[in-house]
Amino acid sequence: MQKSEALFTRAQKTIPGGVNSPVRAFKAVGGTPRFITKADGAYMWDADGKQYIDYIQSWGPMVLGHNNAQIREAVIEASYNGLSFGAPTEAEVIMAELVSELVPSMEMVRMVNSGTEATMSAIRLARGYTSRNKIVKFEGCYHGHADSLLVKAGSGALTLGVPSSPGVPANVAEHTLTVEYNNLDSVKEIFEAHGDDIACIIVEPVAGNMNCIPPVEGFLEGLRAICDQYGSVLIFDEVMTGFRVSRGGAQERYNIKPDLTCLGKVIGGGMPVGCFGGRRDIITHIAPTGPIYQAGTLSGNPVAMAAGLAALTQIKQPGLYDSIFENTQTLVDGFQALADKHNISLTTNIAGSMFGIFFTDVEKVTNYKQAINCNTEQFNKFYHGMLEQGVYLAPASYEAGFVSKAHDAAVIEQTLAAADKVFSTL
Ligand code: PMP
Repeated sequence: MQKSEALFTRAQKTIPGGVNSPVRAFKAVGGTPRFITKADGAYMWDADGKQYIDYIQSWGPMVLGHNNAQIREAVIEASYNGLSFGAPTEAEVIMAELVSELVPSMEMVRMVNSGTEATMSAIRLARGYTSRNKIVKFEGCYHGHADSLLVKAGSGALTLGVPSSPGVPANVAEHTLTVEYNNLDSVKEIFEAHGDDIACIIVEPVAGNMNCIPPVEGFLEGLRAICDQYGSVLIFDEVMTGFRVSRGGAQERYNIKPDLTCLGKVIGGGMPVGCFGGRRDIITHIAPTGPIYQAGTLSGNPVAMAAGLAALTQIKQPGLYDSIFENTQTLVDGFQALADKHNISLTTNIAGSMFGIFFTDVEKVTNYKQAINCNTEQFNKFYHGMLEQGVYLAPASYEAGFVSKAHDAAVIEQTLAAADKVFSTL
C-alpha cells in the first residue's frame, strides 16, 4: 500500500480530498483509496502491483469488462482523424440510430458528456415542455449533481424540498418534491396536492444509489399511470440501468415506456458520454428545433462516439447478457449461502447484472430507510476483508455492485472463496 498511501498524501495537497469524485476517497469505509494503474477484463491493479477482482467496473460502464479490445481499437483509430471538430459527424448519426433501435422509446436522442448533463437537460426539457416548475424525485435516488436534483425530503411526504448540499438555493430546492421509493401512495398524495404544477417524475427504474433496490411489482406501472393522469412527463434515469439490467434497459426488463430516458456509463464504453431522448413531440422542443436551450462544445465527440459505438455494437449481439446474468445470480446466491453458513444477517437484491448485499435482519430491502439502517460497521469490516483478499467492492454500503462479461465462473468462485474467509472473521 506504500505507493497508494504516498500518492494519496500528495494528491490531497492539490485536489480536494485527493480525488475528483467524492466516493473514491474511501470516506465511508475509512483507509487509503487504492490508486489504480491498469485494468483488464474483471481485474484491476493498484500502484503497488496488487491485483483485484473489480465489482465497481468504473461505476457501471464496463459491462463488457475492462480494456475491451474492440473499444480500445476504435478509440485509437478515431484519434488519428482528430480529437474534436465541433461539427456534425456520421458517427453521431449512427449512434442516434443505434440507441433508438436498442431503446425504442427513444425516438430521438441528444448526446451529452455525462449522466449529470443528461438528467439536468431532461428536467429542463420537461419543465419547458409542460410550462410547469415542480419535479418529483425519490428519496435515495441519485441523478447527478445538478442543483434541482441535489435535494432530499423534509419530514413528511408533502414537505417541500430542502437542499441536501450547501450552494443549492432554497428557492431552487423548493421545486423538488421528494417521495418514498416503491411507495405509490406517497406519489399519489403529492400529485393530489401539486399535480397541476408537476412537470415530471424522474426515477431510477432500478435504484442503484442506495445500494441496489429493484422496483416492487406495480410501482413503475403506477408512475406511468399517474403521469398520464396529470399530464406530467415520466423520465427514466437509466444512466446506470441502461444496457445493464437488460439490453434495452429497465424499460425493456419491466415493459414500461417512459416519455424521456437518460443514459450514461455503458453508452460511452468508458469515455465521457451521456444522452437523453424520448418522444419526438417532446424532444423537438429543444434548440435548434425549439426554444429550450441545451448545448455542448464536446457533445457527440468523435473519439467518445467511436468508443460508444464499439460498445453498443457488441451489446447488440444476441445472448450477450445470458451468462452475465447467470454469473450475477451465482454470485448473489453464493453470498447469501455463505452468510447463512456463518450466521450473519444478510439479504441480497439483484437486477440483471446489478446486485446489492445488505447486512440487515430485514427480509427484503425495498426503500431508502431500510437501506440506510443496515449494519455499516459490519459492511466496513467485510469491505476491508474483501479488499485484503483482492476483491474490490464499492467503498460504501449504499452502492450497487456490477458484474461484467469478463466475470466468468472461475472469477465468481474465487470471489466466493474470499467471502467465505471474510465472513468467518465477522
Ligand atoms: N444518474 C444515475 C442513476 C447515476 O447513477 C449517476 C452516476 N452514478 C448519474 C445520474 C450521474 O452521472 P455522471 O456521474 O456521469 O454525471
